[in-house]
Amino acid sequence: MGGTQATQRLAAVTGRATARLRGQAAAPAAEAVPEAGPDAEALADPPDRRQDDRREPNLARALEAPGAPAPVQHWLPRSWRWLSLCMVGSVAVAVILSGTVPDGIGALLLAAGIGLTFAVKVVRSLLSAHPGSWDLPGILSVVVLPLFLFGLGMAHWTGSGAIGWDITIGAFMCTSAVASAHLRRKSAAIFAAQLALWAAAALVHGSLAAVLALGIGVAIAIGVSREQQSRQDRDEEFRRVAERVQTRARDILNDYEETGQGWFWETDRRSLLTYISPPVAKTLGIPPERLLGQPLARLFDLADTSGEGERTLLFHMSARSSFSELSVRAAIDGEERWWSISGRPIYDQFTNFVGFRGSGTDLTERKRSQDHASRLAHYDSLTGLANRFHMSQSLEKILASQQESMRACAVMLLDLDRFKHVNDTMGHPAGDALLVQVARRLERAVGEKGQVGRLGGDEFKVIAPGRTPRKALGELGREIIHSLSQPYSIDGQRVVIGASVGIALSPDDGTTSEEIIRNADLALYAAKGGGRGRHHFYSQDLHSEAEARSKTEEDLRDAIGNGELHLEYQPVVALDSNRITGFEALLRWRHPVRGPISPDQFIGIAEDCGLIGTIGEWALREACRHLASWPDEVRVAVNVSPLQFANPQLPAIVTSAIAQAGIRAERLELEITETVFVNDSEGTDAMFAALKGIGVRLALDDFGTGYSSLGYLKKAPFDKIKIDQGFVRGATEPGSRNADIIASITGLAKALGMDTTAEGVETMDELDLVRRYGCSHVQGYIYHRPMSYDDACARLDQGMDAVPYGPRSARAARQTMLRKVVLDHAGQVYHGTIRNISTTGAMIEGLWQVPVGTLFKVQIAADQAVTCTTRWSEGEKMGVEFANPLHRDAAGRISAIQAPPPRLPVADEQQRKSG
Ligand code: C2E
Ligand code: CA
Ligand code: CA
Repeated sequence: MGGTQATQRLAAVTGRATARLRGQAAAPAAEAVPEAGPDAEALADPPDRRQDDRREPNLARALEAPGAPAPVQHWLPRSWRWLSLCMVGSVAVAVILSGTVPDGIGALLLAAGIGLTFAVKVVRSLLSAHPGSWDLPGILSVVVLPLFLFGLGMAHWTGSGAIGWDITIGAFMCTSAVASAHLRRKSAAIFAAQLALWAAAALVHGSLAAVLALGIGVAIAIGVSREQQSRQDRDEEFRRVAERVQTRARDILNDYEETGQGWFWETDRRSLLTYISPPVAKTLGIPPERLLGQPLARLFDLADTSGEGERTLLFHMSARSSFSELSVRAAIDGEERWWSISGRPIYDQFTNFVGFRGSGTDLTERKRSQDHASRLAHYDSLTGLANRFHMSQSLEKILASQQESMRACAVMLLDLDRFKHVNDTMGHPAGDALLVQVARRLERAVGEKGQVGRLGGDEFKVIAPGRTPRKALGELGREIIHSLSQPYSIDGQRVVIGASVGIALSPDDGTTSEEIIRNADLALYAAKGGGRGRHHFYSQDLHSEAEARSKTEEDLRDAIGNGELHLEYQPVVALDSNRITGFEALLRWRHPVRGPISPDQFIGIAEDCGLIGTIGEWALREACRHLASWPDEVRVAVNVSPLQFANPQLPAIVTSAIAQAGIRAERLELEITETVFVNDSEGTDAMFAALKGIGVRLALDDFGTGYSSLGYLKKAPFDKIKIDQGFVRGATEPGSRNADIIASITGLAKALGMDTTAEGVETMDELDLVRRYGCSHVQGYIYHRPMSYDDACARLDQGMDAVPYGPRSARAARQTMLRKVVLDHAGQVYHGTIRNISTTGAMIEGLWQVPVGTLFKVQIAADQAVTCTTRWSEGEKMGVEFANPLHRDAAGRISAIQAPPPRLPVADEQQRKSG
């Protein structure tokens, strides 16, 4: 029975402890306590003490600190002395009522009894020092003996007849009542006291009945006090067990709070704090006592914008509903700390709402790692820019705006040119370092105008929200390209790359993100196809261009096997002797359906789709094979793409081609463009050394058109510099600085012991000029156009001497006119006006910003169409070059335009007018 009670009580106490731990209301558990036993009330905190607990957590804690010994509760109270007062009072009353005083013996007995009660102090200290063993001597000395002596004194006085028994019995009852009241904790002592008092009377009276009654009384007293004692022992055991449980629960709570993993709080009905774990107060930098009485919300930062938790918290508090795991920001200046808090309302036993109690945990680390994870999910770890996912989210967000005007934006897709080369030759860490620098420049160039992201690899994206004018976007595109094309320093090495930009706008070019991205991608494709390093806006016809390009790519794969490729040879003439010294081998593709396709149209594609290696090797072997059939003094120059140059197999391929053809190595010249130098790399130097080791000649092609740094001329063992057509063209016009440039190039070449070939010389004036400025060789229409292998053989049969033939000047050759013509590009028809024409090309007006390299079929006369390629474009003007030069009549006029102009399609003409 005692065991079950103990467990019940234990349950009650642990119930309270865990209720605190979980922030639950403890009331229901406390209710179970009264059933547990008579002392349960003492175990359960009395309501007023609970109140104190709330107000002074530290004090309560200190008082109830675990391990502090509980004060010993004596069965003998300190106030036992006051019994003497009762005894003295009884004697005084007897004196007054009887008008007598006790005789000598009586007075002595009474004084001894009264005096002995004062020994209580000594006995109490003995009891404390030796609990248990001093109980009996204690009872005998301060309870039994004083009362017995007092009883004896009174009985003696009564026996002398001075006072009546009535007075004595009254005195005994008063004294025994007071003694019992003081000894309520030990029933055995009460009985002992009673017996001592009455035994004295019985002794003096000497009656048998009294002695018998006393004997029975003693027997009952012994039985009752034994039962009482065992009860008290049990109670004491319960108390100790309960105390241990309480102490343990408190220790656990303390430890938990102390570790800072979690904390507790409690408020009153007005949401003012009544308890807060001290570590939290410490974190907030406020003493806990100052926090008490403050609103709970004061612990949190209400100003924080992401305070969704705050509002929910206030809502729950006013609705008196439970809440769990609300994240709130701690009100700490200069530190970002997050808590997760839970709480539930508490009620008293009358179900009155008394406040809230709850717990909190530190969320900071978890939130930090969540933030980190979300950063990883949204940002590129290398450059820190927004990643593909984040960028497409941003775009979706703009396109889904409520207001239509807010849905406008421009998307720019960027692709780095030659990035792969850097990665391949300098290694991935260098590539990564480059990407980081690109990202920073990109951010600087774009600034506030838009958001920058990296899609992966060397692809980047810019989203410019709002309606930005095309002109401004074009400028931004140029600015980006310019900024990214400046040299970089990677590991102390100089690196140059380029960039191409494709631009599409919402809503003009699409209203869904897929559409816009696809169209920006097409524009980027066109920008790259147009010669890289440029930006391109999306336009409707890019679709057909892209289709045509991918068709070309497909056809090109079959071209080699189908024998659709061949080489043409353009003679190179030495100016001092007017003799042919060799040929440049130029690739030609005769497409079975589309007819001849210019290398400008397909070399770029071959490079992009990885076919250039195969095609280049084929050209090399074919040129060597042909060269073997020509006189030994003749050389052949073969163009080598920078991608071929980056292939470590190139020297082996060249050696094999030479050996197979059985020619001397120095008869073969490799034309390399300066693009191979844009990045300092040991690979480049090694390649030059290897090629030079084979004994082939090296020519620097298109000098001055691309990357301009003369530094490499010192290192690279070139035999020849080829001056690009661009410098020859217009060199004879007044005010042109091209002549000076040609002069300085030839000066430089001479100083370095190199030959110079002027390319694209078409007029006598140009020929005179390049001769005057010191070029050693000329390659141009003024001597010969590229010709087939058979024609080249036939030409060589006539001897090596060459005679220039052509117009005196480009000016005279150009004829101004105004002729409306139809231009056909990949099946699409456009209208334009020829403003001037020469045998080799024309200036046409009417088409806006045509990408360089675009191929057209132009109906220039009713009975004649020519194929031409756009060479430059400015606003709505463009210059085109004819695939085959036109003929002049005897009078020097261009024959084709003597014929009647072409008939324009009526419908189109009307459409054009109305448009
Ligand atoms: P390039 O190496 O600068 O070749 C010279 C280009 O100028 C040739 O154009 C040639 O026909 C043209 N040309 C020569 N004299 C004149 C002239 O007096 N006036 C004008 N207007 N043009 C003249 P083509 O044959 O269309 O070749 C274009 C480019 O294609 C070449 O420029 C070269 O970069 C590339 N290419 C040609 N064949 C090959 C090849 O086998 N491999 C590689 N990788 N590229 C090649
Ligand atoms: Ca060339
Ligand atoms: Ca060239």
